[in-house]
Amino acid sequence: MLAKIIQAIKSFFNALFGSKPQNEPTTAKPPKTKPEPIDLAPQDGSEITPDTIVVVANEMDFPKAQPGDNAPDKDFDDDIFVEEQKEEIPAPPPPAPTETPKPEIPTPTPTTHQRYLWCLDNGHGKKTKGKRSPLFDDGTTQFLEYEFNRDIVSRITKALDNKDIAYFIVVPEEDIDDFLEGRVNRANSKKSTLPKLFVSVHSNAAPAASANSWAPDNVSGIETWFYHGSKRGQKMAGIFQKYLLEKTGLKNRHIKSKPDGQFYVLRKTAMTSVLTENGFYNNKKEAAALMDDKMRQKIADAHVAAIMEIEDNGL
Ligand SMILES: [Zn+2]
Repeated sequence: MLAKIIQAIKSFFNALFGSKPQNEPTTAKPPKTKPEPIDLAPQDGSEITPDTIVVVANEMDFPKAQPGDNAPDKDFDDDIFVEEQKEEIPAPPPPAPTETPKPEIPTPTPTTHQRYLWCLDNGHGKKTKGKRSPLFDDGTTQFLEYEFNRDIVSRITKALDNKDIAYFIVVPEEDIDDFLEGRVNRANSKKSTLPKLFVSVHSNAAPAASANSWAPDNVSGIETWFYHGSKRGQKMAGIFQKYLLEKTGLKNRHIKSKPDGQFYVLRKTAMTSVLTENGFYNNKKEAAALMDDKMRQKIADAHVAAIMEIEDNGL
């Protein structure tokens, strides 16, 4: 009897939240979904082991348009249609009256054209295990990734407020764990008349002898990840990477994607998405730089510059 009730509850929830088919027929693109327990899903570059296949692309090398490419990536970039419909050529203004000159009427300030809703994801929460540097020499200072990610996102939103750009902070709460599925669901279900884009802000970790030891000095720099096979994702990643290098002067680790086992937030978001890895927090020298207010502002400014370029030109 009890087993039957449990079965009935399971079927009910499956019907309610039924997941996408896990193994869709293979097309030219790799399958969007792959069965993978959430807690094993990579969340940022630090989980990439050396034997994992990673496709490194040059950030300036935008994918070339091919016949038929106007169609958005299937079930991934479908928000592009909304945008295309929105692009209307404004009607020409009516001819100005030529008779009696009228007293000057102040021209109304033009309303900013908001092109996208920027879903800003600040990576991990306070309760996420690891994601912190070894202690610095003073024995107390430590780089905490969740704090860095949040600080960068809050600097970004301050600038976006001034520019009247639409955004949505995916996880405003601080005192949480990774909450991977939740952050993706929030972004996916956020209602907006604007097409959405997703940016996840992180700092990286290199393999080290232990969580308490610093990684080798030579592993450093910035990389930006995109969903493998998404042309818009690659273009978007290239724009973010370009400004991040330009503003911070940190080493170029290029834009990257993985044909398999991709980051949960890139794989499951139903919108074009990128994940920025802003320096290595377990590289002692770079971690010290990332603690610095000026460097943090440069990183935030780079994100804002990328956002503004995409707001201006579209993606
Ligand atoms: Zn991270």
